Amino acid sequence: MSKAVFLDRDGVINQKPPEGDYVTRWEDFHILPGVAEGVALLNRAGFTVIVVTNQRCIAKGLLTVVELENMHQRMTELLAGSGAIIDGTFYCPHEIEPVCECRKPAPAMLLKAASLHGIDLSASWMIGDSDIDIQAGVNAGCKTVRLIEGVEAPDNAKRASGSTTHADIIARSFLEAIRRIFEREGVAIDSFSSTPTAI
Ligand SMILES: [Mg+2]
Ligand SMILES: [Zn+2]
Repeated sequence: MSKAVFLDRDGVINQKPPEGDYVTRWEDFHILPGVAEGVALLNRAGFTVIVVTNQRCIAKGLLTVVELENMHQRMTELLAGSGAIIDGTFYCPHEIEPVCECRKPAPAMLLKAASLHGIDLSASWMIGDSDIDIQAGVNAGCKTVRLIEGVEAPDNAKRASGSTTHADIIARSFLEAIRRIFEREGVAIDSFSSTPTAI
């Protein structure tokens, strides 16, 4: 059994689109600073890295399944080019209503990944920037990290502190999240660069 780190997509791997908007074009898919380095560190530490993302833009007809999967393939290839391996990407294409079994906060995407990749969920982590990510992680039996944006700290910190679901760790950047997970897990790493590079 392996241990995994599950990653939400928008707001964790790539720049979050404005509220109510969706990333429907590759030109708008901007990978956040520190993500490639952080994923590579997870790879080296032996974590399976899985992306789990709600994409109801599919149900809304804003993007086709093929277009979404192409975007995820480009994301995976771009990160792999920087030595960061994503082991799997799962998405929920459904609307909020009617309720499906895969949309976070339901844990189905994490459970499916766990069965496909032989993941021990209780030894795994979920990193997300919203309540539903944390709830999905908790529902799957994982430990959780909530990312809050440093630049929008007041609003997000309020949202994080006012949220109903308590994350095990609150971090202000992807690399901080990884560093804190490694601390908890007792993973020794030689170095974190102080200036994460964007790709
Ligand atoms: Mg998000
Ligand atoms: Zn679904």
